Formats: sequence, structure tokens, C-alpha cells
Amino acid sequence: MATVVGSAPKFTERDAARLAAELYGIQGDVKALPSERDQNFRIGTNHVLKVANAGELREFLELQHDTLARLRHFARNLEWPVVLQSRYGADIVEAGGHLIRMLTWIPGTCYAAAPPHSPELLASLGRALAQMDLALAGFDHPAAHRRFHWDLRQATDALQFLPLLPAEKRELLAPIFAAWEHIDWNALPQSVIHNDANDYNVLVREGRVVSVLDFGDMVWSATVCNLAVALAYAMLGQQDPIAAAAAVTSAYRELRPLSESDLDALYPLAVTRLAMSVCYCAWQSAQAPDNEYLNISNRPAWALLERLAAMPDGWAAEVLRGAAAQKDSLLSRRRRTLGPSLSISYRDPLHITHGRGAYLYDSGGRAYLDCVNNVAHVGHSHPRVVRAAADQMARLNTNTRYLDAHLVEYIERLAATLPEPLCVVYLVCSGSEANELALRLARAHTGREDVMVVDTAYHGNTNALIQISPYKFNGPGGRGKPPHVTVLPIPSADPTGWQAAAPAPPAAFICESALSCAGQVILPPGYLREIYAQIRATGAVCIADEVQTGFGRAGSHFWMFETQGVIPDIVTMGKPIGNGHPIGAVITTREIAASFANGMEYFNTFGGNPVSCAVGLAVLDVIRDERLQENALTVGEYLIAGLRDLQTREALIADVRGMGLFLGFEMPHEREATELVNRMKERGVLLSTDGPLHNVIKIKPPLVFSRADADLLLAHLHRTLRELH
Ligand code: PMP
Repeated sequence: MATVVGSAPKFTERDAARLAAELYGIQGDVKALPSERDQNFRIGTNHVLKVANAGELREFLELQHDTLARLRHFARNLEWPVVLQSRYGADIVEAGGHLIRMLTWIPGTCYAAAPPHSPELLASLGRALAQMDLALAGFDHPAAHRRFHWDLRQATDALQFLPLLPAEKRELLAPIFAAWEHIDWNALPQSVIHNDANDYNVLVREGRVVSVLDFGDMVWSATVCNLAVALAYAMLGQQDPIAAAAAVTSAYRELRPLSESDLDALYPLAVTRLAMSVCYCAWQSAQAPDNEYLNISNRPAWALLERLAAMPDGWAAEVLRGAAAQKDSLLSRRRRTLGPSLSISYRDPLHITHGRGAYLYDSGGRAYLDCVNNVAHVGHSHPRVVRAAADQMARLNTNTRYLDAHLVEYIERLAATLPEPLCVVYLVCSGSEANELALRLARAHTGREDVMVVDTAYHGNTNALIQISPYKFNGPGGRGKPPHVTVLPIPSADPTGWQAAAPAPPAAFICESALSCAGQVILPPGYLREIYAQIRATGAVCIADEVQTGFGRAGSHFWMFETQGVIPDIVTMGKPIGNGHPIGAVITTREIAASFANGMEYFNTFGGNPVSCAVGLAVLDVIRDERLQENALTVGEYLIAGLRDLQTREALIADVRGMGLFLGFEMPHEREATELVNRMKERGVLLSTDGPLHNVIKIKPPLVFSRADADLLLAHLHRTLRELH
């Protein structure tokens, strides 16, 4: 490499003009074009004079000319330069120690300068590469069989420059080279390949790839490397790099199928190309800091490498294999067989295949910032939670009638998060089971049946819970309020309206500590203290449904009820408790637990099983170790300030409210809210609507939601609200 860059020709534009006139009889304005190790001069409007590196072999230029001839013959949908003969009848001429050629100029813009890189353009790139690879099948030339530092088989050549990079950059590249080592080269078909369809070599005209230039990196290698190189550059600067790579690949495969082995290798090879590129750049920058061309693709390449590293393992490879192809059939098969009482989100439903942190990833290669999945509390597929589940699953999973260290540790840890006298734990499998059991506890303790709830509440999917959920019994298909239920209004700030009056003394008052289905409503200060006092005066018990609000989401407190300065008699938990693993819990006082222990056993086959307990413990560990409650507080405050700022500028935001990472804002109508949610999804941000009028946008992301995520959400909200306005 050192010799190659060192022996680059140093002709002036005047030299080039003279050579063009003398050797080819061609005159015109001369302009030097950027090149790494050769020199290229545009002559007039129709020609390019190419001056090869002093180290270039004549035989290698002959390979290029044979290749061009073959492409002109077999890849006719594309345009290929014609090699001109000099006045003396040769297509390669020697001058000043360099080999010289004159080629026809193909008009167009280089791909890098032709944004936006639309799906159509990406597909045309895929087709162009497939046509080239098809045209070169069966072609061979001795000069192609060379050891070349840009050949992806020789990635170790680049690896030697790793020490030139700072530690964090080396860490980014290490797994890439490790994956490269697993490539089974013997399984990959080989041929002569162009090997450098980078974004400066691909020529675009009228939104379509018309040619691929610069044959100086040709080599005999695995054919799939040609596509891999192109993918590396097609991903640069894209909002969804994997979707871009998939668009190129799928168009390619329509013309030239790829084997299973090719598909296995494709993504690791594309990323290896980027890694090689930044390694060579590091070395070249150290040698020739003034050569601008060397730096052209360096910064975007690092940015892309960082983004790719944040993506879930295996996702990109799966997308490139064509995971999206099954999406339509999944929808129709789902419709045919799944119970029809369940809607699917978004006009164009999502086919999510992977999750990591606050992001979800779909089969088509798009990443989505997840602002609504409050279940994936510590982040989607958190490695510590996954490992805890897998390890325990591999070891033992039984019911809770045996002694188990995980169970005991878990219930102790869970109880320790709550104030006295909440100290007795029941483990179940869902929020519904938790609330169902809470009702049984309250009824056993009081000997009464009636329940008091707050309007628009949802507490679960069982018979008993539908009956106490106004959201359901007053909603579509609901049968109205049953006689044993009293509904309190969603509280206003005025305490005179806080009256818990019922026809008969109830068994329980159940209330979320901030109202979810009502539209992300924060209870007015003092509300629960007042209502709890009135309820307790009747002898009833107070149940705090913390299924959505618990585990640090409030930011200032671990439990949302603590923000109201009360201690409930029963607390129910679900959703975030297992980060997606089905766990629920009920925690109550010794007195209430004693009333329930009337001889009838409470057995729950899956509740409290060792796997669930291991998962629950891991979730508690991560919340503590990653300081997620603190994050909910700081990012939540930052986000709500951003929303309030947006509110001053955007008329479509009526009210902004929330606490920690339990936030929402109101829009005038359901219509605008639904439109916003769908448009935000197209921008890669997932939100959803709530509230009795479905006009509240709810924001309750995984607690790993960062300040940068908040910025992204706000920026896209701003743009989308502008559009809607
Ligand atoms: N309580 C509340 C406040 C809920 O939001 C939900 C679920 N949306 C439940 C209980 C029921 O939980 P699950 O769906 O896990 O049964």
C-alpha cells in the first residue's frame, strides 16, 4: 500500500492536455478528477484520460479492457466506457513511466451526489450489480488472480492498522473482524468482480444507475463480495441503512439468485468492507494528511459503524435474507385464525422481529424509537434479563411447592421496595391475575362485594375485572355498569368534588396511581389521601393498581402511589415487572393475608416459578444498577419541558401532562391524534393514543429512554405537527 500511494502519478493538467492532443488528437478543457492511486483527467466533455500508478502492470489494464468489452456485450442495459486507440494503434500507451489510456466519458452524477437514495435508485443499483456479476460469470484472466489489499478475503491486511485507532474505535471493529473469521470461503462461488461499487464509482442519471466506473480494484474473489462492497456504501448516510441494503439486495436477487452461504456471508462482508476502509484511512491519513480524497468516506463510515453496532445481533442478516417477504401472508394468516377481538396497530401493520434498548426493528430493515412499550421497562431484550431467563430455564422450572432460593430472594426484594405494612407477596402471571386476586383478598377481608373505581379505568381482562373497568363496560360491546360497582369521576383539581359516596359500603376502592386509559392523567395532589380516608372510614380496603405506573417510572419515587403520600392496603403489579416475561404480583398486609387464609389454598401453576423469579430479580437488578428511576426523572423532566415548549408553538397540542416517563399530550380530536401516530410511525417513532376520546398521545417508553431519544422524538413531533397544521 505504501508503494502504491507513494508512486501515484503527478501529471499536471497541462501535461494531460498535451498527451490527449499528441496521442489521441483530442482537445478540450482539462480537469483533474480525484483518485486514490492513479490520475484521471476529464478532457472536454466526452473523454477521460487515465494515467496509471507507476506500479500498475500492463496485464492488469488489459484485464480491465477485456472486462469492459465483455460488459458491453453482456450487460447491455448499462453503459460502459469505450477504450480509444491512440494514433499509433495501441489502447495502452506508456509516457513518463506511466501507462496511459483514453476512455469515453459517460454522463451522469456519482451516486454519492445523487440523493435522495430512493428505493427505486437502490433497486437499480442492485440490478446493475447483478447484471455485472452475470456478465462476468465464466470470464477469467490471469491478472485477476492477485493478492490485493482491498480483496475482502484479505481483511487481515487492514487489521494490522488497528493499533493506529483509539481504544473505543478498536472495540467497535473487533467483533466485525471476529465475524469475518467465521466466513466459510470455500462455500462461496468465485469469479472476477469489480470490487469497488462505492458511492463515487456508481453513476446515476435520471434516478437510475447507468454505469459502474473504475475497474482498478478488480480481483478474482467470492462473487458475493461485489454486492457486499456496494452495500457498505449504499448504507452510508441512510436513516435506515439496513432497509437500504435490503432494497439493493432484493433487486439483485431478482436477477441473480444468491446461495444460502452467500446470504450468510453478505452482511458480515459488507461491514468488514467498512471496517477495512476506516483502517486503511487511519493508515493513509497518518502517511498523507493533506490528501483530501483519503478522508472522503471516513467520517460517515464511522458514524455508520457505530449505528450498526447498536443494532441487535442477527437482525440485519435476517433482513437481507428477505424476512419482509412473509409480511403480507402473516397478516392474512393471522386474520384467518386469530380470535378477531384484537386489533393490530397502525394502518400498515408492523412486522417487528427484534428489539434492543428503546428500539424495535422490523423485517424490512427499519428501526423504530419505541415510545409506548412500558412493558420492556429496562429495554427490549435486555441481555441480563435474557441470560437470567435462559440460564434458569436450562436448569429448572417447576411450580412453587418446593423450596427455591430465587423465589425467596425475589419476594424479599420485592417487599423491600414497599413501605410497611405491605410485606406479604403473592406471585401470579399477569396484571389481570394480580387485580383478580386483589379483589378476592379485599372481599375475603371485608366480607363485602361492591367495588369503587375511577371513570375510564381498565384493570384487566377477566370477568370480574371487566365488570369493574368503565373503559370496557362503557365501551364498545360493553354491558354498562353492574349494580355492585360505583364509578367516581376523573378527579379535577378542585377537592370539593372528591367524594367517595356509594349506595352500600364497598369491599374495595381500586385506582391506578396515575390514570392510564383516562389519558395519562396525573392525580391532583392530595386526591388519594382524601379518597383513601373516606374509603377506610367505611371499612373498605384501598388497592393501588401499579401495573403501568410502578417500578420507577414516576422518576421521583419507585411507586407512583408514593407521589400521593399514601400507603395502600394492597398493591398490584404487572407489565414491567418481568420486562415482557409474564409476571404479576400482589403485595398486601399481614392482616389482609390472614383473612384470605381461610383454608382454601391459593395455587397458581406458573406464578412464582423459578424462571419468573430469576427474571424478576434481574429486572430489579438492572433498574438499580443502571439507575433507571433516576433516568426516568431526568429524561422525563427534559422531555416534558420540550413538549411544553412545542405546545407554545404548535396549536395542535392542547395539554401536556405527566410525571417521570409517564407522559401524554392532548390533541383537539381523535382524527389528528391518529394521523399523528401514523405519520410518526412512518418517521420511525412509535406512539399511540389513549383517553376516552382517543385524542391523547401517550408517551411511556422503556426507562432506558435517553436524552438523545427525547430529542429525536421532539424533532419528529415538531415536523409532523407542522405538516398536520
Ligand atoms: N391494570 C392496568 C392499569 C392495566 O393497564 C392493565 C393492562 N393494560 C392491567 C391491569 C391488566 O394487565 P394484563 O394485561 O397483564 O392482564
